[in-house]
Amino acid sequence: MTGGVAPSELAAQPVGEAARVAEGVYQLKVPVPIPLVFVSAYLVEGDDGWTLIDTGFDYPEGRAAWESGAAAVGCDLRRDVERIVVTHFHPDHLGAAHWLQEISGAPVYMLESEIQNSREVWENRDQSKFIDHLVRHGMDRETTEKAARSMRTNLVLPEKMIPLKKGEEMPLGPGTSWVVHAPGHADHQLMLHDEGRRILFAADHVLLKITPNVGLWPETTPDPLNRYMENLRSMRSLPVELVLPGHGPLFHDLEGRIEELLVHHEERLEEMLREIRDRPKTPFEVSRKVFRYGLSIYERCFALAETLAHLDHLVLEDRAERMDDGTVSFRAT
Ligand SMILES: [Zn+2]
Repeated sequence: MTGGVAPSELAAQPVGEAARVAEGVYQLKVPVPIPLVFVSAYLVEGDDGWTLIDTGFDYPEGRAAWESGAAAVGCDLRRDVERIVVTHFHPDHLGAAHWLQEISGAPVYMLESEIQNSREVWENRDQSKFIDHLVRHGMDRETTEKAARSMRTNLVLPEKMIPLKKGEEMPLGPGTSWVVHAPGHADHQLMLHDEGRRILFAADHVLLKITPNVGLWPETTPDPLNRYMENLRSMRSLPVELVLPGHGPLFHDLEGRIEELLVHHEERLEEMLREIRDRPKTPFEVSRKVFRYGLSIYERCFALAETLAHLDHLVLEDRAERMDDGTVSFRAT
């Protein structure tokens, strides 16, 4: 979707570099080995040390960006880091937390439920649940097994993870921030709201140019799309003047972007409903129609999970029904 919300002129630096985006707040564009190009990590300067928000994948180019980017803004990763906050368990956010903790000695904070979820996802070598989930929804087994190998690779978790609770106050720079629960893209994702400075560290909840993937995975609580849209609606009046997302450009108009995202999902629900009007289709078939561009195996899994989240939501709204004879399919009611 091409939206009307304009990107900020802040953070025009190339990937691999850091730039100041507010007083004492820096964005580091950490390169990633996937089509997203970069993940945004943030470094916030405080009286007692720095807070790092998100970490990128743990691979040589990512580490190099951390080393040079942090040094460029005056943060010594081996001496100055007070805490590391990880917004959610995906490898582009959590991946390098183990390494950053190892070199800095700083604790890693996540939502309490996300710590548990991370252990279940990353310490469980059994991929059969993941594979069965995709196969049951129409993907062929061979593709699914290949995808499982590339997506659920080993991620080494930080040794010390400290639980946060939603609504909790956390020191951030010279002030404080609120821990905000942001379900949808991930069940236990958090954002930090610096109310004093009107800044939202938005993780992958509200992105510009791309829409956050809201998918139904084997470990996802049912109807993530509903929880995502409800949460967006509840954020409309949040006092925010600068949104610092996990990917893509920074922007200022949070409420405008919320409206665009809500419209996007309504349109996508309609589009999927049209696909299942004539005959029942598996979620994989629908995803192949709705997401047309040339997709990698990895992207096909995301497209399937996102399609499934929408179809599930149509069932919840009584607009579709779900049939299961070993393979799941949906048809409009
Ligand atoms: Zn991400």
